[in-house]
Amino acid sequence: MTNFFVDLIFPKFCVNCNKFNTLLCEKCFEKINFYPFPLKPEIDECCLENIIVMAEYESIVKKLITTLKYQGIKNIGQTLARMIYYTTNFPRVDMITSVPLHKKRQRQRGFNQATEIALELSKITKIPFTKLLKRTKHSHPQAKISDKNKRLTHLKNTFIINQKILNLKSVLIIDDVTTTGTTLNECAQILKQVGVKKIYGLTVAHGN
Ligand SMILES: [Zn+2]
Repeated sequence: MTNFFVDLIFPKFCVNCNKFNTLLCEKCFEKINFYPFPLKPEIDECCLENIIVMAEYESIVKKLITTLKYQGIKNIGQTLARMIYYTTNFPRVDMITSVPLHKKRQRQRGFNQATEIALELSKITKIPFTKLLKRTKHSHPQAKISDKNKRLTHLKNTFIINQKILNLKSVLIIDDVTTTGTTLNECAQILKQVGVKKIYGLTVAHGN
């Protein structure tokens, strides 16, 4: 099916101003506060080189992420991936993976928003994508836990290895939003344990 027919069935509107025929218009794109430097998480035993962040989790970026997640407009995943690729210093890695959802949540939502973005980035960069990790605990969403210490401990033992690949030197883990970097670091710890030397995180946004 060509894009023409896809557009007929699913007309596109800018998530912010409703302009027709685009998911994000140029004017709204220019309002985004892009993140200038990678984030160095303040975590003990940090296994990440850094976390590359595209923008702050606010206004337009927040709308893009929530529309992707809760309205299931998967094309936004492609838009976000392209935005990430053109606005960040994308690392050269051997493999791309994403923070997994628990299978229960994945079933509810029908897809994993981080994986959608990761798959598109894999297409753009030609770096292979593999589901390296698996989430074993169906925990409460991070955002709902306000206590910082509770947030740090409740994720322990949440992830396990899904697919072990030998001699993997560097991996990029993708997620939609990060606050403290704890989730990405939990994933990075697992990859370190199976011998990955350098692990980077990358998120669409950074929120508080
Ligand atoms: Zn707009």
